[in-house]
Amino acid sequence: MDVKETAFKDRHSLISRAYFFAESSHKGQKRRSGEPYFNHGLKTGQYLADWKLDEATIAAGLLHDVVEDTGRTLDDLEKNFGPEIKNLVDGVTKLGYVKYRGDETQKDNIRKLILAISKDIRVIFIKLADRLHNMQTLKSLPPDKQKRISLETYEIYSSLAYRLGMQHLAGELEDLAFPYLYPEEYKWLISNMKTRYEEREKYLKRIKPIVIRELALAGVEPLCVDFRAKRYSSLYKKLLRYEMDIDKIYDLVAFRIIVKNIQDCYATLGVIHKLWPPLPGRIKDYMAMPKPNGYQSLHTVVFCVGQKIVEFQIRTMEMHEEAENGIAAHWAYEDEKDGRKKRISFAKGKDITWVERLRAWQDEKTDSANFIDALKIDFFKDRIFAITPKGRVVDLPAGATPIDFAYQIHTDLGNQCIGAKVNGKIVPLNHELRSSDIVEIVTQKGKKPSASWLESVKTATAIGHIKKFLKYKNPFIEVQQTELRIIAESRFDFAKDLSNVIGRNHLNITNISFSPSGSGFQTIKVRCDSADHRKISRLIVKIKSLKGVKEIDYRFV
Ligand code: MN
Repeated sequence: MDVKETAFKDRHSLISRAYFFAESSHKGQKRRSGEPYFNHGLKTGQYLADWKLDEATIAAGLLHDVVEDTGRTLDDLEKNFGPEIKNLVDGVTKLGYVKYRGDETQKDNIRKLILAISKDIRVIFIKLADRLHNMQTLKSLPPDKQKRISLETYEIYSSLAYRLGMQHLAGELEDLAFPYLYPEEYKWLISNMKTRYEEREKYLKRIKPIVIRELALAGVEPLCVDFRAKRYSSLYKKLLRYEMDIDKIYDLVAFRIIVKNIQDCYATLGVIHKLWPPLPGRIKDYMAMPKPNGYQSLHTVVFCVGQKIVEFQIRTMEMHEEAENGIAAHWAYEDEKDGRKKRISFAKGKDITWVERLRAWQDEKTDSANFIDALKIDFFKDRIFAITPKGRVVDLPAGATPIDFAYQIHTDLGNQCIGAKVNGKIVPLNHELRSSDIVEIVTQKGKKPSASWLESVKTATAIGHIKKFLKYKNPFIEVQQTELRIIAESRFDFAKDLSNVIGRNHLNITNISFSPSGSGFQTIKVRCDSADHRKISRLIVKIKSLKGVKEIDYRFV
């Protein structure tokens, strides 16, 4: 679909209304390159149309910078286009505040924030389309911005696209970022690889008719036989793994054969292997065993004409489209099979797939300790992710306030906090923050924390700093406690023994409760005023040795 053409054809359609609304909103604005600003919105909308997304997404793509860069408000959007489009634009605008500057610890927070914001996956599609066009026009920006945006694209958005199964887009984003991030390496590749690529392509042009002829003899009618050069960015990554030895890279230029169905895929593999012997260990059946991101294909590497090593990739059109466009392609298929134009629902069944994929993406790089954490944070029932005006993502427990936020960034920011703005509006200091809120802390030199803050803050950091300032004894230790859960025989002097042991270990009981748990046993819950791992482990050993103790576990509270 050509978005501009559609916009001019039917003036009452959603796309047309979005087109002209955005165009008039951006009127007179220019991008750094000198072109009218709306070109960017139009390109974004067009990419979304190319990925066969629904009309609301395309419309939101056209409008995506209207709130950020013009006098229009979210209310204006809601009045004109309804809550769905407003929410999509709002999500994209908020993602725009997130800035990745190479701080590894931020990577995880950014990913979680993206997940939290993108309850509607379409927000991510719009952001990716937006980013693709920004990368294509990056040369008109100053060098420091080029670097930052490229790094963010490389580390965050490209891998996001990849996890969504949009391999083509992921590769394109990486290729666009690569020259800015690795200028020297890029130059090296261009000067060393260009002729090799050309030689390769010339060679494969000679092979192509042989492949087509042999397939015809075997009764396979391919939909497409083509070859494509490996992207510079992925070539570079591979070269690093192979000690920069170009001769070890077999898929410099690979053949791609697209056929009608799965049987034809395996038949094609047979034809290729009959023609040329395969390299042992290089046959990969991603059809029987798809990659974690859903990629399906048959890969083989053979000794081709003149003993040259060539890689073949074989798949069906459906697999091909999914490999290129991932989840977007999948939805488009569902829509077409139905034969009628329905609004694709992203809310039912389908989003399980993307949630799973995103989760796989999130989990992949986390080690086992973090893995547990990642699971806990899953779906963010108890975490929120707020953003600083500079785009840093701050991870907080649910119910956290601007004061928690301030202390999380810096002690002084917390101590001198006198007010806060959330999404540009002044809020009271006990205001509950929500995911993707942009929080600005107002400070005053010499201002001191107030005891009343303790009633609303949620984080141990904030409580500790406030208490410290107010000269509490042991401000940080008081914050954390341990709850022990003990199952023991119901003997009358157990409580006394227990409190003696705890006292001898220099811990204080802050709370204790007993409840019978049947057949002569009782459950005792004890809170102690320490969360010191070593102290608690020692205490547990001692409690275990008490008479009649059956079970004991603990948690920090
Ligand atoms: Mn934009």
